[in-house]
Amino acid sequence: MNLIGLAPDEMIQADIRTLIHPQLSADHLQRVVIVEGHGCTLTGADGTTYLDGSGGLWLAQIGHGRRDMAEVAAAQMQRLEYSTCFWDFTHDRAVELADRLLSIAPANMSAVHFTSGGSEGNDAAIKAARLYHHRRGDHDRTWILSRRGAYHGLTYGGGTATGIGSLLEGQGPHLPHVSHLTAPHSYRRDLFAGQDPTEFCIRELEDRIQQLGPHNIAAMIGEPIMGVAGLITPPPDYWRRVREVLTRHDILLIADEVVTGFGRTGEWFAAPDLCMQPDIIVTAKGITSGYLPMGAVLFSKPIADVLRSGVNGFPVGFTYFGHPVACAVALKNIEILEQENLLDAARDTGQLLHNLAAPLADLSIVGEIRQAGMTLALELVTDPVSRTPFPDAGVAVGRRLRDEFGVLVRVSAGSSLVLSPPFVLTENEATRLIDSIGSLLRQITRSQP
Ligand code: PLP
Repeated sequence: MNLIGLAPDEMIQADIRTLIHPQLSADHLQRVVIVEGHGCTLTGADGTTYLDGSGGLWLAQIGHGRRDMAEVAAAQMQRLEYSTCFWDFTHDRAVELADRLLSIAPANMSAVHFTSGGSEGNDAAIKAARLYHHRRGDHDRTWILSRRGAYHGLTYGGGTATGIGSLLEGQGPHLPHVSHLTAPHSYRRDLFAGQDPTEFCIRELEDRIQQLGPHNIAAMIGEPIMGVAGLITPPPDYWRRVREVLTRHDILLIADEVVTGFGRTGEWFAAPDLCMQPDIIVTAKGITSGYLPMGAVLFSKPIADVLRSGVNGFPVGFTYFGHPVACAVALKNIEILEQENLLDAARDTGQLLHNLAAPLADLSIVGEIRQAGMTLALELVTDPVSRTPFPDAGVAVGRRLRDEFGVLVRVSAGSSLVLSPPFVLTENEATRLIDSIGSLLRQITRSQP
């Protein structure tokens, strides 16, 4: 079938016939067909333009449609479009990117393993943590601790670590030995039985370790700041205290920086500022700003040493490990982030978004505003006293912002409106984004009984 020249309506019918989308019911017949992107603007097949307030799916750091990225990809394709890194084969782009990643990563990171995305990276991290203990003679250390509401992808490994039960429906047994703890979502105070959230979480962690047996636990996995859960920024001391407990029991810590990495919080990685001190860091998304599928898992030296040992080394990896074009594009992306001071821009424009959004806190529909670098969340409630989550916010707010204001935002965890725009967002675009949100939320507040 030749789709070129299809009218938007025909394209939608072809989509409905041919595609199975992630997380879309057959009852939903609407489609937004995007055909072009430049900077922070996406253009639809019918000519509608959208301000991309969510950076696709938490990426697009350097903005859409950059010619210099396309040129790098084209040049690399003409020189070496593919070569494997299995066994003792390697190539210059994979080595250069590994070296570059280690130069911006926390100092204890010592080696890199490439993937094609975040879920795959979390699988690799979980396998590595178990294998690390196994090869050191700790054969029972198989349990993985995670948190409810966490998002670590949708493969069997990452998907089990993901703490969203509805996503596991009908797929048979998932990864055994994964246990979920309470997320440090302070605003949801009913989670903590009247106690301080950090104290509650630390006590729960200690209790769970004792229930499972410390010698049975391989690792804890966590997003430094939980994205899909609604941008949950942990209390200041949370990660330092968690790390202390894990270290005491020889349990590894995996930081899932798939969302937070590559400048999203204003730093290359979010873990250091939160005193998380992970043993393994999983990245994807912002590593190429989404220009090609790519991810990387970073290991501390003790783990890297163990993964390199044994007859098979680390028996994990896929055909596209260190794909030369993806590596070249990632290198260019990192160069752009650095040369155009986009981490500073993420910090400054993120702060601007926060300042612009601050007055919205007076609306009864806005329960809490959270920000970290170039991400901002407004948790929507029916009223600020009961803190009841605003029902159907995806349709009532997310879809209306898209259809009536031409603004793309994400509604996460049912009731948190989350922004994660490209770092090249201009002041005018930031103002338009928040003005649109403000105007819709005021309309909804006025129409409430
Ligand atoms: N980890 C986190 C924190 C994520 O937000 C995501 C995706 O949104 C993933 C992992 C999964 O990444 P991917 O969809 O590339 O497999």
